[in-house]
Amino acid sequence: MSLAVPTQRSEAKYGLPEAVVFCQRCVMSNQRPCSSVEFRHTKDRRHRTLRFDDEGVCDACRVAEQKEQIDWAKREEELLRLLDRHRRRDGGYDCIVPGSGGKDSAYAAHVLKYKYGMHPLTVTWPPILYTEIGWKNFRSWLEVGGFDNITFKPNGRVHRLLTRLAIEHLLHPFQTFILGQKNLAPKIALQTRVPLIFYGENEAEYGNPIADTSSSLRDRSYYTMRNLSEVYLAGLSIPELQERYRLSLNDLSAYLPADGHALEESQIEVHYLGYYLKWTPQESYYYAVEHTGFEANPFRTEGTYSKYNSLDDKIDGLHYYTTYIKFGIGRATYDASQEIRNKHLTREEGVALVRRFDGEFPERYLREVMDFIECSPERFLELCDTFRSPHLWKKVEGRWMLRCQVA
Ligand SMILES: [Zn+2]
Repeated sequence: MSLAVPTQRSEAKYGLPEAVVFCQRCVMSNQRPCSSVEFRHTKDRRHRTLRFDDEGVCDACRVAEQKEQIDWAKREEELLRLLDRHRRRDGGYDCIVPGSGGKDSAYAAHVLKYKYGMHPLTVTWPPILYTEIGWKNFRSWLEVGGFDNITFKPNGRVHRLLTRLAIEHLLHPFQTFILGQKNLAPKIALQTRVPLIFYGENEAEYGNPIADTSSSLRDRSYYTMRNLSEVYLAGLSIPELQERYRLSLNDLSAYLPADGHALEESQIEVHYLGYYLKWTPQESYYYAVEHTGFEANPFRTEGTYSKYNSLDDKIDGLHYYTTYIKFGIGRATYDASQEIRNKHLTREEGVALVRRFDGEFPERYLREVMDFIECSPERFLELCDTFRSPHLWKKVEGRWMLRCQVA
């Protein structure tokens, strides 16, 4: 019971719950922040976190349970009605599938085109630094799968600067990627007048509020703005970025969300395909291998045991390392929790994998990533220590240890 009693040492950063609790079913803890509006992320933001119910089960596990009760045949009929409304016969594109060639976007684009007879345009905000396997899978997606694609390559100097600032201010190496991934497709939809966008899974499958799964539509707050004053990039306001770093609004425009007014008038709809089709990462993987030439890594991904999740960016490993520092949740915890929910692992197996691999330092691409952001590994590690919350971490004989580990 001592866990539930906050003591002086345990001042929680980022609005995290003081007492660490692990889900009874998966290996996720209550420290997991919900996915939220990326362009409102500031240094002082207090995160909403994964909710647990009276039985000690997390919302993501409850969503997985609900998925078993859904009448998927009926959902597919709903999808067919939606697609029938939008399918074009005049040679134009009728939907957009954002992605960089991972298994989920490969699966989504392929079923829409070859099973349901749609004409998707794939849209890519590329990884910050493509891995060899990521680049190969991206090429195969288009070449083997057979899709047209628009790739947007942001200004390298600005990208480098914003990625570094997001690390310095938020310890968030992935922020520039997430911003582009969320904002690019709606903006391309506005320009190309393609009115339908499909993302894969709802964020609620990983811990956003269950109520979010009741709609197929992606909440507009994720990708639209009313006013520039709402927007923060790398934790800084637009005027701060312009003044301190001599950036123009044009330099920053690639990272901004779509204009809310324009989007409303356009009647563009952004849907989760995972609302209509039962989504299982392992099944997407098998599907992508068969239909779009997808390949898993020949080696284990650092920080976890898996070989096919989130492989395409050299900065991925660092991203999960920083979630381990800030929330005590590493890559193996994310992977194992998802696989437990999909019944590919038992909780005991998950616990063993987390204890073995979580928090493993991502050495493989470290040098290249640090060169890219113009930071030394030593400086990066010092920075990490300033983001450790005392309610999660303690130093024992000169080494940082988590106060609570899953068991
Ligand atoms: Zn759970």
